[in-house]
Amino acid sequence: MNLDQIFKSAQEAFLHYKNVTGKEKATFLRKIAEGLELEKHTLIPLASEESNLPEGRITGELGRTVGQIRLFANLVEEGSWLEATIDHADPERAPAPKPDIRRFLTPLGPVVVFGASNFPLAFSTAGGDTISALAAGCPVIYKGHPAHPETSNLVGQVIYKAVIDSGLPIGVFTHAEGGIDVGQALIKHPLAKAVAFTGSYNGGKALFDAANQRKEPIPVFAEMGSVNPIIALKEKLGNNLEVLSKQFVASLTLGAGQFCTNPGLIVVPVEHAESFALKVKKELQEIAAAPMLHEGIAEAYYNALSILQERKELEWVKVAEAKDLIKAYPALAKIKASDWLEDDHFQQEVFGSFALMVVYEHFNELFAIAQRLHGQLTITVWGEEEELAKKTDLLNQLEEKCGRILFKGVPTGVEVGYAMQHGGPYPSTTDSRFTSVGVYAIKRFARPIAFQDMPHDLLPDALRDENPLGIWRMVDGKFKK
Ligand code: NAP
Repeated sequence: MNLDQIFKSAQEAFLHYKNVTGKEKATFLRKIAEGLELEKHTLIPLASEESNLPEGRITGELGRTVGQIRLFANLVEEGSWLEATIDHADPERAPAPKPDIRRFLTPLGPVVVFGASNFPLAFSTAGGDTISALAAGCPVIYKGHPAHPETSNLVGQVIYKAVIDSGLPIGVFTHAEGGIDVGQALIKHPLAKAVAFTGSYNGGKALFDAANQRKEPIPVFAEMGSVNPIIALKEKLGNNLEVLSKQFVASLTLGAGQFCTNPGLIVVPVEHAESFALKVKKELQEIAAAPMLHEGIAEAYYNALSILQERKELEWVKVAEAKDLIKAYPALAKIKASDWLEDDHFQQEVFGSFALMVVYEHFNELFAIAQRLHGQLTITVWGEEEELAKKTDLLNQLEEKCGRILFKGVPTGVEVGYAMQHGGPYPSTTDSRFTSVGVYAIKRFARPIAFQDMPHDLLPDALRDENPLGIWRMVDGKFKK
């Protein structure tokens, strides 16, 4: 099929699929989850071989993927995500009668999804972007990632089968293959209505710009990663040097540092900087170099390190022992806050197990760092409760810079649930109002529509007086079923 045929089929499918009930969509999504589980004995070794990620990690990722699909199935079955709202008419109102207005969310249309190389299952073909778009009622055209083509194809087959077994039009899902030219052509097609992406800043920004230059601009929800700063306050760090250094190193090196939430920046008080650095160095020395996703990513990691090694402001606590073709040796450098504040290059993400330790001498420096930070997916604050209570101005400032602020532990490990926010101010994403993980991800692919004085029999089920779907709605200003 050429691109026109793909979009024509997706658009035809859309006109049917947008009216499919939440229960039917839930059944379809559950069939995808079941299909993935049935294929697990093929899928796990295949994804592991293509991504260099250990089978244990892929097994966990498969569990996360099917759990996520079932969460969206429950969400659309329950139905309150539609924000169904009814204001009944009041013909007696003076000076003008009040009309009957009913509003809910309706799907946008065909969505183009770009998967990530670092999550061959959970952020790829049947990952959160695809599933939240399907849950909203949008057909998906998925652009396969070249880092795991066979895995992507197999998952695509599972989705095709679920589409057919559910009696849905075939255009509900399309697996498209090709390089950057194909990706560009997909998002420029006039029938594309939105784009979802997880990957590099350069890729996400290029797609965002291209989508905005279309005759009809469309939204691009790009998650482009971040350095996920950890801010350590004096007492907390001093009281917990051992445990915090272990937690930090485990999070930094998890998955060879190839998560969008690995902490690439840690801000520490000068009083404990030396002792913390020594403990971190010792921990890092015990971590074996781990294979990265592919040679290109390993090369980009070592290139980023060599650029930093030219900088005289950095003191290396631990250098990468060798430049490997595929394995990432962890590394850590230290810099004074006053130097870090001088150059935004020090905020750039190095994809892999590298972190920069910024040492602050007094609170004003710490506050200046908080003001200077670029937008982040997460910020973690390590502080004793009494310390935090005295630093509400700092917390207030940090809230402006991230989508999720943590007060315990480390930023890796993104829960998939109802309250999760995975998306922060630019440049971590292109639209901080939305999340790409958790149920609210569905809101990216729907828009509000209001029906004014529509004949009752023509109204969608979600907005009819008798509430045939039995969903929570706002009726004349009150939530009710
Ligand atoms: P990527 O290079 O951004 O590519 C992701 C997807 O977008 C690929 O399918 C790619 O197409 C497509 N793409 C990239 N630039 C495009 C453009 N200008 N026009 C159209 N399509 C475009 O990400 P990656 O391959 O997964 O990894 C490369 C780097 O991305 C890593 O080194 C890391 O820095 C970063 N990364 C970040 C995250 C994150 O958490 N946000 C996750 C993974 C990777 P092709 O298939 O043709 O290449």
